[in-house]
Amino acid sequence: MNRREYLQSSAALIAAAAVPGCSARHESAAVPQRAMYDRGEVPVELSGWTRTRGVMPAYDSLQSDVEADVLVVGAGLAGASLALHLAQAGVRVAVLEARQPGWGASGRNAGHVLPVLKDLEVFRHFPDGGRKFLELFREHRSITFDLAKQHSIDCDAVRSGYLNVMRRKGAFEDFSEEAARLEKEQGLAVQRLGASDVQRLTGSAYYRYGVLYEAGGRVNPYLFTNGMVSAATRSGAAVYGESEALVLARSGNRWQTRTAKGSVTAERVVFCTNAYPTEIVPEFADSFYPLTAYAVSTRPLPAAARPIVMPSGATLAEVPIDLNPFVVDGEGRIITSSIPSVSRPEDGAWHFGNHLAWIHRTWPETKDLNIELETYWTGRVALRDREFPGVFEVHPGVFGLMHFNAWGNLMAPLMGMLLAEGLARDTMSGLPFPLEKPQRVGDPDKQSFRIRRVLIPAARIAQKIGFI
Ligand SMILES: Cc1cc2nc3c(=O)[nH]c(=O)nc-3n(C[C@H](O)[C@H](O)[C@H](O)COP(=O)(O)OP(=O)(O)OC[C@H]3O[C@@H](n4cnc5c(N)ncnc54)[C@H](O)[C@@H]3O)c2cc1C
Repeated sequence: MNRREYLQSSAALIAAAAVPGCSARHESAAVPQRAMYDRGEVPVELSGWTRTRGVMPAYDSLQSDVEADVLVVGAGLAGASLALHLAQAGVRVAVLEARQPGWGASGRNAGHVLPVLKDLEVFRHFPDGGRKFLELFREHRSITFDLAKQHSIDCDAVRSGYLNVMRRKGAFEDFSEEAARLEKEQGLAVQRLGASDVQRLTGSAYYRYGVLYEAGGRVNPYLFTNGMVSAATRSGAAVYGESEALVLARSGNRWQTRTAKGSVTAERVVFCTNAYPTEIVPEFADSFYPLTAYAVSTRPLPAAARPIVMPSGATLAEVPIDLNPFVVDGEGRIITSSIPSVSRPEDGAWHFGNHLAWIHRTWPETKDLNIELETYWTGRVALRDREFPGVFEVHPGVFGLMHFNAWGNLMAPLMGMLLAEGLARDTMSGLPFPLEKPQRVGDPDKQSFRIRRVLIPAARIAQKIGFI
């Protein structure tokens, strides 16, 4: 697809989303195209993950007053896993999703499954120093692949390894030291690799060193999320699409959550709204740093490129700065991702051009091959001061499970499962992580400014001049 065709096709999708009744109300004609990209709210149809099998069938909206034991608000990876595990435990669960399952970051991410807990400092804040959580993490770090298998979710979930690559010996030594610590503390299987092994796995002679976490891999997060939601419905969950939770109010000793056309009354409500919160619980709205990220997918690579570009199928990350987190999916498409330019967030062709230059540098043989942009999209990430998701209790019976940074493909299903256990067994006081009160962050734009305006532009220049 050339630049003009690409721009025409994405503009047509955005226009379709702007037709009243054609999509969620958030994608209104009044929102200029640039602002939609800038806020990570472009139609999910632009996401490459919806291209392999199309957009999943829509769930009907809530049209009446219903009751449940637990209401889950938001059907991304976190809400989907929570609903699935609650339903499997026999809890009467209802799910309200403002658009459709997988519309948020979960339908838009880069597809990496990262099996690593890097910052163990956070565990100082845990009641038992994190001992129980670390054990559970160790036991379930393959949860993405396990759930896909257990529920026959066809979502290209492959434990193909997570490979960090580097050129400088110093970076390798630092990274190896950290890997050794993770190996010891978290029982991770780690391989330290030299140039020939890295070349065997990547197909590239550019890198001299590598560290492979065998437990990592890739997933199509949109299909994975929708697969979990559909498994939840098979276990009895009631799921409603196009049903934004608008008002939350006490109703006796329960909570009533109203949508435009109905309500759910439940003993407990869990908000899994991540970086797309609405005003319904104001405490969630400013409890994180929003950051817009983008991803691109290519059309399936030409046959000649397949044995050259990442023949091992591992997910790839460059050290020390990763501007091109890289996956080749089961369809043979490249998916890569970064942070959009402030001045041209809507310009997919420009962002893709940067990646293509990097691909040509990393695999020079591809210069003569036709690697074409399929689609470009943006989404929104929620960052915290701590490297751990937020599990909140705002009022008795009103919870939040959110703020997964770029880590949701593993952490969101895991935390959903663990929180479901606490809710189903009524053992919330024994959760393996602290239940916090959401804290207002001082300046919500802080991280976006730092990363999007300073770090990424500087790293792009460094890469262009061959410094990294
Ligand atoms: C470009 C990009 C690349 C990324 N790459 C990776 C990666 O490679 N690996 C990784 O692990 N993670 C990655 N992430 C992060 C990952 O996608 C998120 O951590 C994860 O999707 C969070 O899931 P979630 O369920 O918490 O939130 P979301 O998927 O954002 O879901 C929140 C849902 O809540 C709904 N909602 C909001 N308000 C309401 C309301 N009032 N009523 C009803 N519904 C509501 C929204 O419509 C939305 O569907 C990336 C993210 C982006 C944007």
